[in-house]
Amino acid sequence: MKGLAMLGIGKIGWIEKDRPICGPMDAVVRPLALAPCTSDVHTVWEGAVGDRKDMILGHEGVAEVVEVGSFVKDFKKGDKVIIPAITPDWNSLEAQAGFSMHSHGALGGWKYSNTKDGVFSEFFHVNDADGNMALLPKGIDPATASMLSDMMPTGAHGVELADVQFGDNVAVIGIGPVGLMAVAFAALRGAARIFAVGSRQICVDVAKKYGATDIVNYREGDIVKQILELTNNKGVDRVVIAGGDVDTFMQAVTILKPGGAIGNVNYLGEGEFIRIPRVEWGVGMGHKRINGGLMPGGRLRMEKLVRLIETKRIDPSLMLTHRFEGLEKVEEGLLLMKDKPRDLIKPVITIKY
Ligand code: NDP
Ligand code: ZN
Repeated sequence: MKGLAMLGIGKIGWIEKDRPICGPMDAVVRPLALAPCTSDVHTVWEGAVGDRKDMILGHEGVAEVVEVGSFVKDFKKGDKVIIPAITPDWNSLEAQAGFSMHSHGALGGWKYSNTKDGVFSEFFHVNDADGNMALLPKGIDPATASMLSDMMPTGAHGVELADVQFGDNVAVIGIGPVGLMAVAFAALRGAARIFAVGSRQICVDVAKKYGATDIVNYREGDIVKQILELTNNKGVDRVVIAGGDVDTFMQAVTILKPGGAIGNVNYLGEGEFIRIPRVEWGVGMGHKRINGGLMPGGRLRMEKLVRLIETKRIDPSLMLTHRFEGLEKVEEGLLLMKDKPRDLIKPVITIKY
């Protein structure tokens, strides 16, 4: 089979590999819709997970089952399935402790395009198929559903980590696709004002559709000053971080009210330390929680989130700005993600058979 791989840091190319072998609890699937991600860009061009040679990229996709192992109970050949970017080992102690994403070690649930081949290929492997795949309901477009692999659950997890409650005023720092989903989930959880921090007009327009009430442009001035001005110096109850860098934490702590929480899902690629401002953190006694996490993954979450598309509570297709057809187009989609033209939110590639 052919796949688009990381050949080394900063290098991608098409390679030939053997089709993956299906273990007794696994599935082998072929892609119906694939989406390149900012994390793939971090992986290849920033060496985020370290050097990798000939590792197939990609972790967001909807697929059709071609083979299941003998222990798999709930899926069969021909089923159309949603596959989460994070595919934990559900029998691990970490999963039993409630941290499936860290099964068998920190970030251990993140396997695709990290510790095994990813999804940008003619076939790919799904471990623990009963625990990690969800049936794609009839009538849901695979391209739209590909946002269930990572963008919806990660945006949702940012909101969970920030512990957004109804009536809260929430700042979402970064409104790429992850931040946009955080805006949508904050609105769904009953947030009152939602301050969306970004700069690109296309993201701003979609953020408003998802429920942002105030737009803060970080390129036009200090976001702390802007958000404090907009809130009569009170700040916000919750902050979701889905963009920025290590210094974003200083801003987040400063705009957060005592008793509030920060939920970070942003990947921190640079800087040795995260600095927490002493006074703004209540000289150590401010009750300002800082949580950072990888989304949990797994079947239940996929089944729940797809209901939100079915019931039209969230429409992730608003983010699909660039659509392609044919597996070979994942390369163009990935390069778009790397270059982030101003009219891009998320590319998606559909594959017909
Ligand atoms: P994008 O690059 O598309 O979006 C980043 C956003 O942050 C943009 O809105 C950008 O603004 C904004 N931004 C950039 N710099 C700053 C700054 N200094 N201050 C405030 N805002 C800023 O990324 P994605 O939405 O695709 O992904 C977001 C992050 O989430 C990535 O780091 C990704 O790796 C990570 N991620 C984490 C996962 C998890 O499970 N924890 C899973 C998937 C992704 P603009 O472009 O408008 O200028
Ligand atoms: Zn992703």
